[in-house]
Amino acid sequence: MDGNYEKLLDRVSRVSGLEKEEIDRRVNAKQAKLSGLISKEGALQVIAAELGINFDNEKFKIDELVPGLKKVNITGQIIKLFPIRNFTTKKGEEGRVANIIIADDTSNIKVVLWDTNHIGLIESGTLSEGSVVEIVNGSMRMGEVHLGSFSEFKPSSEIFSNLVKEKVSRDKTVGSLNIGDSAKVRAFIVQVFEPKFFYVCPECKKKASQNVEGFFCVEHGKVSPEKRALMNVILDDGSGTIRSVAFNDVLPKLGLTDFENLELLSQQRQNLLGKELIFTGNVKMNSYFNNPEFSIESIDDVDLDALLKKLDK
Ligand SMILES: [Zn+2]
Repeated sequence: MDGNYEKLLDRVSRVSGLEKEEIDRRVNAKQAKLSGLISKEGALQVIAAELGINFDNEKFKIDELVPGLKKVNITGQIIKLFPIRNFTTKKGEEGRVANIIIADDTSNIKVVLWDTNHIGLIESGTLSEGSVVEIVNGSMRMGEVHLGSFSEFKPSSEIFSNLVKEKVSRDKTVGSLNIGDSAKVRAFIVQVFEPKFFYVCPECKKKASQNVEGFFCVEHGKVSPEKRALMNVILDDGSGTIRSVAFNDVLPKLGLTDFENLELLSQQRQNLLGKELIFTGNVKMNSYFNNPEFSIESIDDVDLDALLKKLDK
């Protein structure tokens, strides 16, 4: 079950006085009426609007944020600042963007700042790691909160005693995955592609490019690179399928141990078909295929005892 949907459902139930089951029933009916063209989270927002609930001035906890939310009002503590990036738009205009992560007592989320005034607050040090900030009128985009010139980003005096700083991975079904989700899925491997190889700089681990003279890192110049592998697989849990990518470090967990012995590799790949495992990772947009892709960060065996305990509850 999607935790954020449940949290927002709680809130709609509280505000409207309707039972959660009744709201959930209306959400399903709305989805059916729209032939599944709307997500469950989207349908819930439509139902809330029909019930006269206006989220515009509602303050949310981070774990209540769902895809498509247009007015995000939250408060959180900055737990990470990424370097400010410059970019050039297709029209040739220069722009800047700052990414930060804020946490509250329920979860944490990436916030993307596009407004120069907001970026200025970070640059001047007015707001830094540890500062508590209030966000008004942000919007949800691909699992992140985006702030534009109509958004507010300002210091807050709120104090958090229990910050949730670690990434929150929720148990989800493949069919309910959205871009930006950090999720844990239990699924079968139904297709295994050929591994691909690439080279990285030994210092910064970024991709090294090759020319006739050897390998080069943008930052470190000529380097003797490290070889890395990645492999795409398709995961299926009955609710849907998703193209997924497993990088170097998790490949041994898939039983792939030797990339030079092609016969062994082919056998090891064959053994993976139909295997059921628990995959933890992030859903990203693959810009080449223009499709969501599940980037696998860790793999665990299906622990039947733990599953049975969970079902008992
Ligand atoms: Zn480098």
